[in-house]
Amino acid sequence: MTKLRFKAVALASERKPIEVVKPKGKVSEYYGEKVFNRKAMTKYLSKETFAALNDAIEQGKSVERNLAEHVAAGMRMWALENGATHYTHWFHPLTDGTAEKHDAFVEHDGQGGMIEEFEGKLLAQQEPDASSFPSGGLRNTFEARGYSAWDPSSPAFIVGDTLCIPTVFISYTGEALDYKTPLLKALTAVDKAATEVMHYFNEDVKKVQTNLGWEQEYFLVDEDLFMARPDLALTGRTLMSHESAKNQQLEDHYFGSIPLRVLKFMEELEYESYSLGIPVKTRHNEVAPQQFELAPIYEECNLAIDHNLLIMSVMDRVARKHSFRVLFHEKPFKGINGSGKHNNWSLSTDTGINLFSPGRNKEANLRFITFVVNALAAVHKNNALLKASISSATNAHRLGANEAPPAIISVFLGAEVSDILDKFERSSVKDAIVVDSKKQVSLGVGQIPELLLDNTDRNRTSPFAFTGNRFEFRAVGSSANCAAAMIALNASMAEQLRTFKKEVDALIEKGKSKDEALYEILKKYIEASRPIRFNGNGYSDEWKIEAEQRGLDCETSVPLIYDAYTSAQSIKTFEYVLSEVELHARNEVKWEIYTKKIQIESRVLSDLALNHIIPVAISYQSVLLTNVSKLKEISEHYKTLGAEQMRLIEKISTNVNAINAKVHEMIDARKIANNIECERTKAIAYHDNVAPYLEDIRYYVDKLELIVDNEMWPLAKYRELLFIR
Ligand code: ADP
Ligand code: MG
Repeated sequence: MTKLRFKAVALASERKPIEVVKPKGKVSEYYGEKVFNRKAMTKYLSKETFAALNDAIEQGKSVERNLAEHVAAGMRMWALENGATHYTHWFHPLTDGTAEKHDAFVEHDGQGGMIEEFEGKLLAQQEPDASSFPSGGLRNTFEARGYSAWDPSSPAFIVGDTLCIPTVFISYTGEALDYKTPLLKALTAVDKAATEVMHYFNEDVKKVQTNLGWEQEYFLVDEDLFMARPDLALTGRTLMSHESAKNQQLEDHYFGSIPLRVLKFMEELEYESYSLGIPVKTRHNEVAPQQFELAPIYEECNLAIDHNLLIMSVMDRVARKHSFRVLFHEKPFKGINGSGKHNNWSLSTDTGINLFSPGRNKEANLRFITFVVNALAAVHKNNALLKASISSATNAHRLGANEAPPAIISVFLGAEVSDILDKFERSSVKDAIVVDSKKQVSLGVGQIPELLLDNTDRNRTSPFAFTGNRFEFRAVGSSANCAAAMIALNASMAEQLRTFKKEVDALIEKGKSKDEALYEILKKYIEASRPIRFNGNGYSDEWKIEAEQRGLDCETSVPLIYDAYTSAQSIKTFEYVLSEVELHARNEVKWEIYTKKIQIESRVLSDLALNHIIPVAISYQSVLLTNVSKLKEISEHYKTLGAEQMRLIEKISTNVNAINAKVHEMIDARKIANNIECERTKAIAYHDNVAPYLEDIRYYVDKLELIVDNEMWPLAKYRELLFIR
């Protein structure tokens, strides 16, 4: 190992940037060239087929067999011309990442030869052997079938030699086994509910679309150094290592110039993204050393999520080509910032209105307040669920840890919008709208200058913040599938808007005017959702106490946080999205994944501690002991001469003994937990009785790292992992 470490350091230090091969032209010339988009469709599909497919996509109608045949024929021709030899149904199982099974286009031609075939039924539906994907018990072994079915709303694309067809993944009996199925349902639910509410303001609106702009944070580590860290390679994070003397204290990495090797990686990544039709826009260094961020221009939510998953796999591939490894783990390194994936979320109409953008007149501002207040109410009512949607074994290191937002969901509105809501609460329909042209909002629904709201004062500590014309759900983890958060958020918003509509309509029926009814209900919501609004410092200890008093969910144990998925409120929220049976089944999967992650970390740590760290510490101790006994041979003052050596010998023994004892205690705790049948109880046991040892053992290992001769230390140190590039 030691040899491996020094070889890795040498290789990493000498590594040169790799030149990127890409077309010379402008981005617009190769943008989307690997996507079966509208442009390709018009070329490869007949006018009728194209129109019918478009209809199906726009109106969310199912694609008939005949149409699928025609689309498949065109898609095949396009794919073959673009070098594809295989095709795959591409879906999002309940693990993070994507799944695919490749089949070649070839079929027997009946005369001993082969032809390239791709029938409509292969496009529309497939039956991957589903038994190895998590289902939470929805599929018993004798009925291991799961179906993947084409999602025409997200275009097919080519990666390497494979045509990838985005699909949903469902069980034989129709339950969702993936993220996309409930996501599409949640998006439809919010579309329907928001369109109906929108009719209070504008009868012409036929559709409300959900938009998502994600910001992907990640770390890059040289691949040889990565390989010299078995913990990083196996768990995605460092389970040990003392902090580097220099970290992010100087804040010299954020927005600093991007190192050349990294720049080359980004260049290639951007080229690949553009050819796959992913509109990447922003790239910059993040706060921590070797941490970066990538963000596209926002897109329709379903497409944006497919693009995020696709780009994560492209990043992994391109990073390897540049001799890097990309780390999506939320907390790969202790003591420096972790990575998130901010989800910028908004709703917009087919008439071009962003529902979270204030307008220029009373009507538009009442609409703005309506949707902002309903979003607040939705987040308030479902704050425990929203936290559950972003919780995982890995994100737990980022939330609730000292330098990250606490595991409490609150909403930051900023001074302006808070002020507007306060004034609205005190105003009435009869109040004249007094608009001060100098950005002053004199009354509830006066003019709210867009400029003022754009880039509002930013509160980086808030997990859910209003940022001018959208909400930014910041608690989402960098390794997560954004769909989990988007399913929960959109389902919450849909349910909230349905309730709102019912309440307003009831008042109108009783004879109130539309505006009176809207005012009355909105004021009630503003009052009721007050506890979720928090503009202060979310990292402070006082907030934790206050949040508890406000009745917000403050649970910090991930396995218990998942219980929120099956609360009475959540079952109501998920009407039209996930059934109670599905919610229970999906929680089983979550607990199982939680357990496995901690189990793997615990095993890797045991192995490293016992086989790498203790032997090296003892070797170094032997060197010291030899030194002391030699001193004794030459001088009777050996006790004074060898004082420091003796102190180190003792310290090493203390730490080695502690590590050894703790590792065995942890193994015992694991054994007990492993015997538990119930996934929930097992996950709780892992959380309560196994996970704490990880930190405990690390403490002693990190102490040894400071003592043991650097030449002998087997694992690449933080200063190497984070500063060699
Ligand atoms: P910051 O880091 O300052 O929050 P970025 O520019 O890195 O901002 O990312 C902002 C993200 O929000 C981008 O993906 C951007 O396209 C997206 N975005 C901007 N406006 C909207 C909107 N109305 N709805 C959804 N996403 C949006
Ligand atoms: Mg942001």
